[in-house]
Amino acid sequence: VLVIRHRMSCSGKWARARAIVKELEDKCGTPIGKLRQVADAMDVEMHAGLASEGGSKLKMLISYVDNLPTGDEKGLFYALDLGGTNFRVLRVQLGGKEEGVVNQEFEEVSIPPHLMTGSSDALFDFIAEALAKFVESEPEGFHPPPGRQRELGFTFSFPVRQTSICSGNLIKWTKGFNIEDAVGGDVVGLLTKSMEKIGLDMRVSALVNDTIGTLAGGRFYNQDVIAAVILGTGTNAAYVERAHAIPKWPGLLPKSGEMVINMEWGNFRSSHLPLTEYDQVLDYESLNPGEQIFEKLISGMYLGEIVRRILLKMAEEADFFGESVPPKLKIPFILRTPDMSAMHHDASPDLKVVGSKLGDILEISNTSLTMRKIVVEVCDIVATRGARLSAAGILGILKKIGRDTVKAGEKQKSVIALDGGLFEHYTKFRTCMESTLKELLGEEEAESIVIEHSNDGSGIGAALLAASHSQYLGVDDF
Ligand code: BGC
Ligand code: MG
Repeated sequence: VLVIRHRMSCSGKWARARAIVKELEDKCGTPIGKLRQVADAMDVEMHAGLASEGGSKLKMLISYVDNLPTGDEKGLFYALDLGGTNFRVLRVQLGGKEEGVVNQEFEEVSIPPHLMTGSSDALFDFIAEALAKFVESEPEGFHPPPGRQRELGFTFSFPVRQTSICSGNLIKWTKGFNIEDAVGGDVVGLLTKSMEKIGLDMRVSALVNDTIGTLAGGRFYNQDVIAAVILGTGTNAAYVERAHAIPKWPGLLPKSGEMVINMEWGNFRSSHLPLTEYDQVLDYESLNPGEQIFEKLISGMYLGEIVRRILLKMAEEADFFGESVPPKLKIPFILRTPDMSAMHHDASPDLKVVGSKLGDILEISNTSLTMRKIVVEVCDIVATRGARLSAAGILGILKKIGRDTVKAGEKQKSVIALDGGLFEHYTKFRTCMESTLKELLGEEEAESIVIEHSNDGSGIGAALLAASHSQYLGVDDF
């Protein structure tokens, strides 16, 4: 077959590029009515996921956290936070009601990419090693007395079916991780084995998702916190549910009457979600096709990649960057969300940040101002869709627990603890999410809902839960 590629005339090229952007904008549209449908679908799926195991794409996982921190927690605890491209180790000294968090130290270690898709031994050995190094820096006077173990809150930000507060089996990997031999295994067992190998005597007292840690950390400072949402590399939410609203719960109802649920909302999907051809191909080519569809529309791992795919189509079909397609533009995940964010926020009149990002990352030089403006428009469409959908997700939770409407005379505040790099650093995303939530709730209701940034609350939260589930409860601190 002979393919003849005509040179596009300049005006033809812009018209074609504009048509692609216009179509994108239509397909990504999130009018308020659609967002309400998404929120309603979220509410329905939450019920279904609580009714029976496997009842919904929303796993609605039981966290075994039936009491959130009270502020009485005391002692020295460690925490380990694994879930993105970095992991963190923390040492937290808790001083009870009077003193609160007396001291915290942490270290961040980036995970060599090959460990994210290698073997579970390699990953957990690496983590245990870093933890052991960190323990060595424990200040004099804080070593546990002979015979007493150090205790750890383990934040593991992947879907886990818990068997107790301190054990649970990995359901599947998400984000960039894919270590097959760990799936189905007890992640606490894996970590413990690696710690034992190197003689690190430490016990995991609490295994928590990052949403649960963030909720616990948020509650420590503010008793009105009822839910936590992560908008970072991945996305997810957790909230406090009434125990008798969990039909699938197998055991005795907890005394508190409450149970924290890890929704795993990243796996939500609905016919109401505005999916495009770009999303479909991204999903198909991903490490986890068919899974985490909501996450793939919203979270930091994917936004930049969606933009790259759109720009690639414009290059291929509209000669957007000239007659040939820039080779770098074909490399998956080369355009990261922080770079997309930098372009989106470019306030210089000639969009020089956009120009330099396109040049540095994609080796596309000599872009015109018109081209750069269109690139910003694409970033805006993709970020706006993600931000508005996350607001709809939050509305879904508020509906489920009956906090989306205020009863006359009621002054009850509902605080949602938010964390994650996307929320923290992508200002346009955050402000769009917040204003959309207000728009969805209406003026009066919006006043009772507070979004609070919980800065790295998940680490502190895990330490707090390790403290409240310590094997030495009731034994004197040292
Ligand atoms: C994981 C969740 C996690 C979220 C945010 C998702 O990919 O499935 O468990 O809470 O990312 O880190
Ligand atoms: Mg995190």
